[in-house]
Amino acid sequence: MNPIGAIKQDFQTEEQAAAKPLIELTRDEKRVLKAYKEATPLDWEDWFWQIRKRIRTKDEIRKLVHLTPDEEKGIDGCGDKLTMSIPPYFASLIDPNDPKCPIRLQSIPQVHELKTAPEEMRDPCGEDSHSPVHGLVHRYPDRVLFLVNEMCAMYCRYCTRSRMVGDGRRTLSTETYNAAFDYIRSHKKVRDVLISGGDPLTMGDRMLEMIIKTLKEIPHVEFIRIGSRIPVTLPQRVTPELVAMLKKYSPLWMSIHFNHPKEITERVKSACGMLADAGIPLGSQTVLLKGVNDSPEIMKKLMHELLKIRVRPYYIYQCDPILGSKHFRTKVSTGLEIMEKLRGHTTGYAVPTYVIDGPGGGGKIPLSPDYIKSYENGKCTLRNYAGKEFVYYDPE
Ligand code: SF4
Repeated sequence: MNPIGAIKQDFQTEEQAAAKPLIELTRDEKRVLKAYKEATPLDWEDWFWQIRKRIRTKDEIRKLVHLTPDEEKGIDGCGDKLTMSIPPYFASLIDPNDPKCPIRLQSIPQVHELKTAPEEMRDPCGEDSHSPVHGLVHRYPDRVLFLVNEMCAMYCRYCTRSRMVGDGRRTLSTETYNAAFDYIRSHKKVRDVLISGGDPLTMGDRMLEMIIKTLKEIPHVEFIRIGSRIPVTLPQRVTPELVAMLKKYSPLWMSIHFNHPKEITERVKSACGMLADAGIPLGSQTVLLKGVNDSPEIMKKLMHELLKIRVRPYYIYQCDPILGSKHFRTKVSTGLEIMEKLRGHTTGYAVPTYVIDGPGGGGKIPLSPDYIKSYENGKCTLRNYAGKEFVYYDPE
């Protein structure tokens, strides 16, 4: 199924758009909308319009942002690797005059991504080597990752799956979906399926429902999650129709990829509110990125803002060593320092797990500052968040 074709089936009517909670356009949204001749505020609310008008070329982005020479070279060179794609909504969050804007760093290619460091890999998580059928990754016995499409609204410049995401490179056929369903049906230990991509929410409601419904009908699949960045990059996609469809398949969980407090706008609050009101538990996954969120203050602010919109911080990922990612990757000590400043210093719900995906296919490995000073002969000496020592004795 062509993903664009799938979207067209669910194109919003004016009545559907009118049924959505209305949010007044911000000054920056109006500025970006002006660049599209004859476009109206109703177009801005329409997620299909946003997909169709994604910013793909240097000429288009130049109308909105004062590009640096490094960005110009990055855009010129990224075509063979991971194309640029920015929905007008997400582009409205970019500071046109600040090359260090965290939204800009995530979405506009830079020349640095064209250089490769020796430790970098095309498939750092070793997904291809754990893929029994196209579209499925089966690394842990009881769960699978189902990559249902290869298209996203916005291509994050540090994307772990940059080897496969991008419009029109490969579309998944009916046979591919059926082979994945058959594999899950015949592996009775699989109790958990994570639907990801690409971004599953770029699909139309009907196609997505077919996937969820088919999985729900497999008796041993007891837990389904959707991994998406769309509620952040294109919150207009979270329509009442989508939410009503997802609600039918409860329990259904959603992991949303958030990286910076600036991403939490009124539209994003509304989208997450609709999902949470429908009983869909929401978690966040954040990638630790140099210049974007590599400070304890920004991370703490992000975690606090997420709790306010009913999204539970779940993971902070060390940035994977994907090709051309050196400018985004921090030292591991930076992540540990962030965790040190979160644990004990704020609400426990605001403290995610910091993980490194073991390069080459090791899976998620949790990291934490060391709170055990010594542990010998049943005596465990610990330090708390404030550095004070306490002793716990094992039972005899
Ligand atoms: S949304 Fe996810 S899969 Fe898509 S480009 Fe961003 S990180 Fe990659």
